[in-house]
Amino acid sequence: MPRKQREDLTGRKFGRLTVLSFAFRKKSAYYWNCVCECGTEKQIAVTNLIQSTKSCGCWAKEVYKRDAKLRAWKHGLEGTKEYRAWQGMKNRCNPDSNAGRSNYYGRGISVCDEWKNDFMAFYNHIGPAPSEKHSVDRIDNDRGYEPGNVRWATNKEQCRNKSDNHYIEFKGEKLTVIEWSERIGIEESAIRSRLRRGWTVEQTLTLPINANPFGRNNGRTPRCVEFNGESLPIPVWAKKLGMKDHLIRSRLKDGWPVESALTLPVGSENPLKRQKS
Ligand SMILES: [Zn+2]
Repeated sequence: MPRKQREDLTGRKFGRLTVLSFAFRKKSAYYWNCVCECGTEKQIAVTNLIQSTKSCGCWAKEVYKRDAKLRAWKHGLEGTKEYRAWQGMKNRCNPDSNAGRSNYYGRGISVCDEWKNDFMAFYNHIGPAPSEKHSVDRIDNDRGYEPGNVRWATNKEQCRNKSDNHYIEFKGEKLTVIEWSERIGIEESAIRSRLRRGWTVEQTLTLPINANPFGRNNGRTPRCVEFNGESLPIPVWAKKLGMKDHLIRSRLKDGWPVESALTLPVGSENPLKRQKS
């Protein structure tokens, strides 16, 4: 019998275990009563105490639980769309990669520290991709990949998010030019050009191709609005007041008083509507 088996282990610590007292002998094995840091009491053989056992079993359970997420993605998510998106995102921001040098890194776009080395942190925030066509999109183009600034978006949605954020409101719906184009089947360029030529939103979005709301004037005589004793075309008012002309048009179309339509800041509500409620 090894000498150690006969040693008094009372009070000794082995990992999380503290030996309380001798328990019993079973053949050549000596068992001691131990208490774990978690409060569990267990009888453990001396050889196990010295060689390997460091807790009542709680430690192994914790490690298993802690690593479960890691195992899950290593086996389940590696190679998935989400994982590739995460790698691509890091690659685009890596100064040592071609993509990073030429584009994102140079513009100061980076991946937040939380996500850089932790796919699961990124995945838990953004969630699974809705389809193969979706990719990671930054909501605010001037900010990096960070919580609150990413979402899954299709290419079309991403384009909408880029420079041209021209929204048109009509019949209570606020859509981009691209979205209206898809909806009504008129080319984006035609919509833009109609608005530029002073068509109202309603005319722009409802009249068929080749229509001409201005008759012989060929769209060159925009509607005039009188305010403060001056009668000017809407685009001129817009320029003068630093407003978007389509905003003025849509307000007038919604029955706003001229003064409110021309003076209230973006995002204001129709003052007449407010009085009613
Ligand atoms: Zn324990």
